[in-house]
Parts: sequence; structure tokens; C-alpha cells
Amino acid sequence: MSARRFLSIGECMVELSQAGDGLLRKGFAGDTFNTAWYARACLAADWSVDYFTALGDDAMSDEMVAFIDKAGIGTSHIRRIRGKTPGLYMISLKNGERSFSYWRDNSAARSLAADPDHLREAVESADVVYFSGITLAILPQEDAATLLAEARRAKAAGKLVAFDPNIRPRLWASYDVMHATISEGARSSVLVMPSFDDEAAHFGDASIEATIQRYRALGAVDIVVKNGADGVRLNFSGDETFVPAKKVEKVIDTTSAGDSFNGAFLAHYLETGQATAAAGFAAGVAARVVSEHGALVAKEKLGMSGG
Ligand code: ADP
Repeated sequence: MSARRFLSIGECMVELSQAGDGLLRKGFAGDTFNTAWYARACLAADWSVDYFTALGDDAMSDEMVAFIDKAGIGTSHIRRIRGKTPGLYMISLKNGERSFSYWRDNSAARSLAADPDHLREAVESADVVYFSGITLAILPQEDAATLLAEARRAKAAGKLVAFDPNIRPRLWASYDVMHATISEGARSSVLVMPSFDDEAAHFGDASIEATIQRYRALGAVDIVVKNGADGVRLNFSGDETFVPAKKVEKVIDTTSAGDSFNGAFLAHYLETGQATAAAGFAAGVAARVVSEHGALVAKEKLGMSGG
């Protein structure tokens, strides 16, 4: 494949996690950013990976841009909005169980699609476009429609548009809006990458096959259904394969398992065009990610050979 520009669209947030003695550690993460991170780690250097979002003009926004840039991910499409700030979440630990508190209702990223020309320019400059159900959920409805229209244009232009439904009911105004908008996300995409747990819980799918059929009926061409330690089922243009997960000695932290799988899968698939091999590669990367703490595991710890 000759495509060389990967664009991920969504929200990256400030992350605060427990560092002992009541101290908090600051990081940056968010589903589509995590996927950009792993795509960057796994793609060859002749690929560019860009992150598309909106941030504010405060010091924390500056730090986030510097962090993204240091990760080798392009920041030139990040719009800065005067007076706005990034979203924030905190991870609490109680008896070994993690829980999350979010402050993102007013984040700059909610305006990421408010400038349609800016969005169009970024999508037109890319060969591969990635976004998620979380990206759609945080947008005002008319901006979600703008983003979906750009995705459809990109799909019609023959670009690889990839979408992870990443269903989070709390982010949506209602189940009806969530079902309709996520379905539209899938319809506007070539490759849909759902997690079966979410699809069963929120779309009522009785089986992985039901998830595949529902997304194919909407117009998705290729589908990868992730199912945790039970592996993934792929349906590429109608051809089905199953790829098992890799055995993990001790699962430490499953944060970003699906995001890392998506980034690694896309990277390998874009380089080789081989979906089944890409799923095997991505299972290896995701297995490393769940064996470490945190959403963003450094490239050196991903155990990749080459690439
Ligand atoms: P999500 O994080 O989106 O819910 P999954 O839980 O399906 O996604 O995990 C994504 C991928 O991460 C899986 O396809 C698998 O490769 C890997 N993975 C997740 N949990 C485990 C596990 N316990 N053991 C091995 N691999 C895992």
C-alpha cells in the first residue's frame, strides 16, 4: 500500500493516577490518542501519524501538545481555543479495583469539529482516518454530523476510514441518540473495530456473528470484533477468520487493551494488507500492554521485532 498519512480524531485528557502517600501522578491519555500512540510505535518511520483535537490556550494544553509532539505524533492539526482547557480524569484505587472520575463536560475537545473547513483540510490530507464512538459522543449533534459527513467523503474517496464504536452510555444524551449515531459511524466507515462485551450489553447482540452481521448490514466492509482473552473474529469482505489472544502470565492493567490492539492492527495491516497476520501481531502488542501499568506502554516494552 502506498498510503502514508494516518490521522486519529478525538479527545486526549489529562490523567491523574495514585502515586502513593496521597500524591497524584499526571499523564495524558484518551482512546483515540492511545491508538495513535500504538500506531506510531508500530508503523515505519515513513508514515506520519497526526492527532486531531482541540485544546485551550492554558499551560496544561501546552504541556499536552509538547507530550504528543515528543511521542512523534503530529500536532499541526490541533486547534487552540482561547479560554478553554483540556478534559481531566482521575483514577482511584480501592481494594485493588480501579474507578474513574471525569471532568470533561466543558473540555476544548468538544469543539474539535466546530470548524468544518479545518476538519476537512485535515481529513483531505490523510490517507487513513480513525475515530471512535467516544469522539462522536462528546460532540454537539450538529458537529457529530459534520464529522460523519467528512468520514463518508473520505470513504467515498477510497481512504481507509476506521471506527471503534467504544460505547460509553454515560457520554450520550439517550440510548436512541447513541444507537443512531454509532450506527451512522459504522455506515460512514470501511473498517469497524468493536468490542463484543460492549456490543452485547448495549446493542443486545446475542453472538459475535450478530455483531458482524449488524455492522455489515449498515455498510461496513471489514469488521474486527475484539473479545478480550477470547481473541478476535475478523470478517474481511465476507471472509471470516478467528485469531486467538496471546497467553498472559499476569494481567496487570487492561486499560487501553482495545486501543492498543487497534493501533497495532492498523499499523500492520497498512504495511502488509494482511488482516489475519495483523490481528496476530496486534494480539501480541495488546498482551504486552495488559501486562504493564498505564494506557501508554513505551515502544521498547512492546517486544516488536523491526517495524
Ligand atoms: P477493549 O479494551 O476494547 O474492551 P478487549 O478487552 O477485547 O478490548 O481487548 C482487546 C485485545 O487485548 C484483545 O483482542 C486481546 O488481544 C488483548 N487482551 C485483552 N485482555 C486480555 C487478556 N486477559 N489476555 C490476553 N490478551 C488480552
